[in-house]
Amino acid sequence: MSESFLRQQFPIFSQHNTDTPWVYFDNGATTQKPQTVIDTIQRFYSRQNANVHRASHRVSAATTEMFEQTRKDVAAFINAASEKEIIWTKGCTESINLIANVLAKGHVSAGDEIVLSALEHHANIVPWQQIAKELDLRIRVIPVDENGVLQADKAKSMISHKTALVAVGHVSNALGNINPIDVIIAQAKKHGALTLIDGAQAVAHLSVDVQALDCDFYVFSGHKIFGPTGIGVLYGRQVLLEGLPPYQTGGEMIERVSFSGTTFQGLPFKFEAGTPNIAGVLGLGAAISFARHHALMISAQEQALYRALIHGLQKIVGIRLWGEIDNSICIQSFSIDDVNNQDLGVLLNEHNIAVRVGHHCAMPLMQALGIDGTVRVSLSAYNTLDEVIYFLRTLDIILRTLKPNVMLAPQAHVNS
Ligand code: PMP
Repeated sequence: MSESFLRQQFPIFSQHNTDTPWVYFDNGATTQKPQTVIDTIQRFYSRQNANVHRASHRVSAATTEMFEQTRKDVAAFINAASEKEIIWTKGCTESINLIANVLAKGHVSAGDEIVLSALEHHANIVPWQQIAKELDLRIRVIPVDENGVLQADKAKSMISHKTALVAVGHVSNALGNINPIDVIIAQAKKHGALTLIDGAQAVAHLSVDVQALDCDFYVFSGHKIFGPTGIGVLYGRQVLLEGLPPYQTGGEMIERVSFSGTTFQGLPFKFEAGTPNIAGVLGLGAAISFARHHALMISAQEQALYRALIHGLQKIVGIRLWGEIDNSICIQSFSIDDVNNQDLGVLLNEHNIAVRVGHHCAMPLMQALGIDGTVRVSLSAYNTLDEVIYFLRTLDIILRTLKPNVMLAPQAHVNS
């Protein structure tokens, strides 16, 4: 009942109502959008389009109010102390680049260390590598074990008085593991290091409280939590953001400009040069409101789907389930002996099942695990148990074709 209620909110699925189902299990890459998000964006462009913060006219004032209300809603969603701590960006990638670039302007220096984890998405590696190269910083990497589980105890010996910043993912996009960020943040605090948490895969599945986490920066993208693409969030502790220089400059972020000099606005506008993605912000507001409103239903459905998926996958002979099944959001990566991941992806696609295969923008993790990639199933609450069953049956049929000589488990079935 709740399964179909949630699904009905996402119009894309009714477009695919043919005899062959379309099973979208690539939600870690991006989520589908509920009607309320689509309506909000359409309403903005068809009825409310005006720039924000600048004009004194009625429509602009109303749009500005909604735009700034969304900032307050996002602050409440992650329990930030103030909406001044919420900076709009294009996405998680830009949020991380913003922090890396502003820290590079005098807040880190040669010999300082940046601590990352082996699980990071490239977006939380490359910006740090770039500034490390420029400023002669050292990057240290908290390792993973043979299943891809972060070895948090090793963080102890890596984080020291030399550490300028620790940047780790809340949840691995490749494997789904929930990282012990509380332990890592505590360790960083002990040595006075800054902390940045990449929440790209967490916000849609876990409740996030940045004050309880006690992190300095927390970043995420709207499109992974039912919102539009091109909008993201940088949360930063107010006192820190106040002490950092602007990232980009231009309109919106200035207080006064003359040819003898320019003064900048305070937070959050200091970090928001140019006309923002107004439709994106409003769409994200609708997405977050949707996620909050249906949080219990979403979480129950995700857990039921994930349990069913794991139950079925565990029966497959020669399968390797990566990560930590008991400490995971509804993402599962796997490989199967003697089966090429790409082939499996192509064959699943022929049955209208969308999964992701490859390195998942986490090449260093794949190197650490000694593999070149995995097959990743990433679920969302609008998926159904029928889809999980269809996926498991299809996988079974494919494997019987690919490995005719291997005794496979009896047809995968699911107990809901
Ligand atoms: N970090 C993680 C863990 C991710 O999963 C992603 C997106 N796959 C990103 C960062 C980058 O997000 P975006 O491309 O939306 O900027």
